[in-house]
Amino acid sequence: MALSVIRGLILKEVDVGEADKILTVLVKGIGKLSISARGARRTKSQFAGGTSVFTYADFTVRTGVKHHFLTQVDIISSFYSLTKDLTALAYATYFIELVDKTTSEGVPSDKTLYLTVSILKRLSDFKLRAELASPIFALKLLQYNGFMPHTENCVHCGKPHSNLISAYGTVCYDCSKSEAKTVKVNESIIYTINYILLTEPPKLFDFKLSDEVLKQLQLATDIMLDAHFGFALKSKKFIDSLNIY
Ligand SMILES: [Zn+2]
Repeated sequence: MALSVIRGLILKEVDVGEADKILTVLVKGIGKLSISARGARRTKSQFAGGTSVFTYADFTVRTGVKHHFLTQVDIISSFYSLTKDLTALAYATYFIELVDKTTSEGVPSDKTLYLTVSILKRLSDFKLRAELASPIFALKLLQYNGFMPHTENCVHCGKPHSNLISAYGTVCYDCSKSEAKTVKVNESIIYTINYILLTEPPKLFDFKLSDEVLKQLQLATDIMLDAHFGFALKSKKFIDSLNIY
């Protein structure tokens, strides 16, 4: 049976049997992969510290006929400090859940992996506000999944937009009437959306926004996320219940 070392981020852990775990890992160059970690829930297991959600590591796996089995974990980062801040942890959980929902087995998603690890690192170092990380993450994830919001004029009729944002980007007042949801935003938000779409990490995080502007940007990206991915995440409902703004 082949032994290989793969680098990835744990998105999900599910307990199975008496002491085992099945890990869902986003692996560099490979995409999402299920890995069986036998005995990982035993306190004395060699895997006890390296098989939790958020662990970014080099995993040595043995590949059998159907399954991949963990034989060693070399942790690069577990982003442990996230557990010290409820808001950062809530957002990090939301990001990981979004990544799990939008990536597939066998489809490499290296940009998504790099973005997620970059954001988790900044959140756990307390160098990035979770409330700013959230719209950045949402927009980049939409972009990596093939959606580029329109920001030039009205996405439907081409007339000048009215600083209204819909699921597909900027719209004029008349066209906004036929949209399910729109949000009126400050002109600076449209520049910010462009900046985010045109920039990659690490430069991606080098700006600040006021709370008021952040709130509008979050509303705009929520409209886009709902329309394009269309699923309700428990972790997002929890964030909304925190009433951060
Ligand atoms: Zn229009």
